[in-house]
Amino acid sequence: MDVRRNLPAVDTLLAQPALKQAQQAHGGRLVRQAIRLVLDNERSRLAQSSKLGEHPAPCALDTLTGLVLEHLERLARPNSRSVFNLTGTVIHTNLGRSPLAEPAIEAMVQAARHPMALEYDLENGGRGDRDRLVAPLLCELTGAEAATVVNNNAGAVLLALGALASGREAIISRGELIEIGGAFRMPDIMAAAGCQLREVGATNRTHAKDFQAAMGDATGLIVKAHTSNYAITGFTQSVSERELARIAHAHDVPFMVDLGSGALTDFAALGLPHESQPREAIAAGADVVTFSGDKLLGGPQAGIIVGRRDLIDTIKRHPLKRALRLDKLTLAALEATLRLYRDSDAPQRDVPTLAMLTRSDVDIAATGERLLSLAQSLLDDLDVTLAPCASQLGSGSLPIDRLASYALVWRPLHGDRHARERCLKRIETAFRQLPRPVIGRLHDGALYLDLRCLHRPGDEEAFAAQLPMLKQCYQRDLAMPRDGQP
Ligand SMILES: *Cc1c(COP(=O)(O)O)cnc(C)c1O
Repeated sequence: MDVRRNLPAVDTLLAQPALKQAQQAHGGRLVRQAIRLVLDNERSRLAQSSKLGEHPAPCALDTLTGLVLEHLERLARPNSRSVFNLTGTVIHTNLGRSPLAEPAIEAMVQAARHPMALEYDLENGGRGDRDRLVAPLLCELTGAEAATVVNNNAGAVLLALGALASGREAIISRGELIEIGGAFRMPDIMAAAGCQLREVGATNRTHAKDFQAAMGDATGLIVKAHTSNYAITGFTQSVSERELARIAHAHDVPFMVDLGSGALTDFAALGLPHESQPREAIAAGADVVTFSGDKLLGGPQAGIIVGRRDLIDTIKRHPLKRALRLDKLTLAALEATLRLYRDSDAPQRDVPTLAMLTRSDVDIAATGERLLSLAQSLLDDLDVTLAPCASQLGSGSLPIDRLASYALVWRPLHGDRHARERCLKRIETAFRQLPRPVIGRLHDGALYLDLRCLHRPGDEEAFAAQLPMLKQCYQRDLAMPRDGQP
């Protein structure tokens, strides 16, 4: 007889008290979906083991109910989930880059809840320009005549190149043909924008005369790209922004700088490594400067273009501008973030990205001291210590600079190299299975949880509160060696 016929009916499971309750919480459709999933799994498990000549017994009703509840939890869980970024990379692209300042969050909520004057001129009534929400602030903060914003900096570069140099040559140093990650490579972006790439100089050295020799009737633009995710050191030479601006202007073509990160405040004054500011590039004579909203600026994802009014007007008229435009939530968050730079005496306190970057190692160690004994009390297989480590800024910002920090270091105690590696994988997985997953970094045979980014009010407490669940996750992972599916 086919044992699969012994499986309970969907309605039998629906009548279980726990699943009746679940219907109240999640709705009948989702519960039925979970039941069908579990019954399907069970059916194929039974079929498999029959095929092997075994005489499998179907799971008990209670067990099936438990599996349905587990599935439900997974189905009901949002895909966008908060995590703890303890990787040591402060601006982590895969973890959403900059968390926003409270006023920016508040502005997004307001923009989400109510209609807003997005493209509406409240003084005169009638149509307005959405860029006006942020352009005057950007001009004030960078010294530029005009500004516009798009979806991200890759978009800003593409748009600026397309609007200013399509069908003509864009001249750039061979040392700056950057790849940022994914499909963002300067040569590809230039091709997509319809520009002819004209590379000059050598990888390590480019001189003013290289640019001068390349200037001609076909020249549309000189481009300088911030080499943000690597550094060329040793026998090097590049041409300054001031010099490039002079060469461009002598030939009546514009000079564009892709800054990448673009700090809006003096990093050196905050005790951080110097980072180029858009203001400096504008003062040096750049006609157009592009940078990201969510890197060192600490705002939402956006691409910011500042510069000469006539060029910004040309850029705004390009059809890609409409295709890349910012939505109202992002604009609201960007405006609020920019206001912090203008109005606050201490952006390093009010902009979370800056607050994390400027956090002292003494303060980070104090967080570690408070968490250490709890962390040490949880698992027998691992040794937990508080140790110095080095954070990095991330997202291609200041690629070679490191910030002194402290980490909780989880090091396997027992077994040979393979056993230790397995243990390490398991602890890493267990941290990811916590209600608010914790993402650390494997380094030198241990899991490092860099505590720099546990900095928002309540973060440390929330981290500590879920830590006792680690043991359960760690053991659950032992019991489920396959892929975590029941
Ligand atoms: C990060 C970066 C970009 C891309 O910016 P996104 O905001 O990620 O689109 C472009 N150019 C440089 C130099 C960068 O560092």
